[in-house]
Amino acid sequence: LEEGARSCLLRCRHRLEEDIKPPYLMDHMISDGVMTVDEEERITTQVNQAVSLVELLLMKDNRAYISFYNALIKEKYEDLAILLFPNLPRTLTDGQKNTSDGSLSYVQAVLSEGGVPQRPVVFVSRPELLNRVREKLYRLQKDPGWITVFGMAGSGKSVLAAEAVRDHRLIEDCFPGGIHWLSIGQVEKPDLLVKIQSLCFRLEQNLDSQSLSRPPNSLDEAKERLRFLMLRKYPRTLLILDDIWDSTVLKAFDIQCRLLLTTRNRSLTDSVSGAKYEVEVESGLDESKGLEILALYTKAKVQGLPEEARSIVRECKGSPLVVSLIGALLKEKPNRWRYYLCQLQQKQFKRIRKSSSYDYDALDQAMAASIEVLPDEHQDLYKDLTVIEKDVKIPAKVLSVLWDLEQEEVEDILEEFVNKSLLFVDNNSKPYLYYLHDLQLDFLVEQNRTQLEQHYRYGPPTSGDEECLYWIRFLTYHMAKANLSQELYSLMFSLDWVSIKAQIMGPAHLINDYVEFGPILDKEFQEFLSLNGHQLEQRPFPDVVQLALSQPHTSEVYRQALQQAQDRARSG
Ligand code: ADP
Repeated sequence: LEEGARSCLLRCRHRLEEDIKPPYLMDHMISDGVMTVDEEERITTQVNQAVSLVELLLMKDNRAYISFYNALIKEKYEDLAILLFPNLPRTLTDGQKNTSDGSLSYVQAVLSEGGVPQRPVVFVSRPELLNRVREKLYRLQKDPGWITVFGMAGSGKSVLAAEAVRDHRLIEDCFPGGIHWLSIGQVEKPDLLVKIQSLCFRLEQNLDSQSLSRPPNSLDEAKERLRFLMLRKYPRTLLILDDIWDSTVLKAFDIQCRLLLTTRNRSLTDSVSGAKYEVEVESGLDESKGLEILALYTKAKVQGLPEEARSIVRECKGSPLVVSLIGALLKEKPNRWRYYLCQLQQKQFKRIRKSSSYDYDALDQAMAASIEVLPDEHQDLYKDLTVIEKDVKIPAKVLSVLWDLEQEEVEDILEEFVNKSLLFVDNNSKPYLYYLHDLQLDFLVEQNRTQLEQHYRYGPPTSGDEECLYWIRFLTYHMAKANLSQELYSLMFSLDWVSIKAQIMGPAHLINDYVEFGPILDKEFQEFLSLNGHQLEQRPFPDVVQLALSQPHTSEVYRQALQQAQDRARSG
């Protein structure tokens, strides 16, 4: 480790030791190849992990220092990273060494100077996509502009963006000024300001200017500072903004520079000016790539993988995130192929976790995050999409019935979902057909199941508020979907339910349920309803218990009615 870096580490040692949480940082350092798993394990067993990590760093080389700095940025310790920044070993400017003498290659140096993440430990190439992004990057050779790389959660957008710039020719031809990576995520304005401040700081430091100006203290000021820096000092530099959720973030970067962003939301650049290009990232890898990932994780040959491997890739439709999550688990527990496949099949998303650098430590959180940014009323509508069957595509019209909205309004809402990568559209047919990715559908059903069980546990809903109405309308449907047949059976068998649903939704809905789910239900209830359906239409609402008491005395309907009548008598 060069002297400046070393003394910097010693100076801010206490701050580091107090603030950092080593596990995630070490993950990054391992994937950068500057730390071994053994070293990580050794540190993990120490009482004070932070102290041991700093000690280890002091014994390592420049690359480790740079990797540690990048890890701090990624794990949102910008305030600490800033302390280390002034002494970052100047790998790039100290002569562009090549890898043969063990130092960084030109490309690696440019990228690590700009905080571009390294390749994941296990990596497969996606040449066609990569070329598409590079082709767009070449369009920024002469002029500023925006490239949107969009796709659903975990489709590999960030990995792709970082890979696209890992190219000597491209950097020299288009971005000789460098490439700077900024992870954004779901930020509020103050956090955004801090991020831009630290970007400005990074850029200004590099200029070796004598006096550093004070950090900009409003977003407007930050935008002007950045505009000045990019235009005057860093022409032909690429900014990569990773994981953007909100177009207000982009407004701060609307300064006529060269910019690539990754996002789930295709239409973010609508509100900014300049040339715009986009690349869609397909949600899944093809089977051979998926298998390759599993093989790399488990250090096996593709041909030697067990049969479950193929099923795992198919089950998640080749989602890079899911395949990698499972691959990482299998690396630790190589005997669990069948187990993880079953978990995936049973949609046990919460168990498919990984303690690594992916922003959301479980798949369901990644999915939930996408849904949570929708306006409340659209979240509910989105959840209704559980009614779509697997592998079925439906036109907007069906949803306009389900949601009871004008078709045009429905089309607008669906477009929003599509733009946010929450829904897919098949434009080749007229009218357009919409469908969910299997994982999204499974996720929704899974989420609903939890809610359903709660609703079920607390008994049938009783008030008439909106959410209640929804559940009264769809509870049976969702229960059937979620295979809660035992619960469905007892719900529909309960006189309380009959009475509530008939009162609120009218008997037609109720009878419809019984027709629909008839095969698993009791005949007597159906008979009771078909005989008394017309009475359930009357207002004031008739006494269901009274009606039921006129049923054959051996029937379940009668038994429940009698029970309730007796309860009533007892309570007065
Ligand atoms: P996104 O940005 O679309 O949410 P990421 O690019 O962060 O997705 O990728 C999610 C995870 O999927 C990564 O952490 C990595 O494990 C895995 N992954 C993505 N692309 C690849 C790839 N080309 N090869 C191997 N694994 C990949």
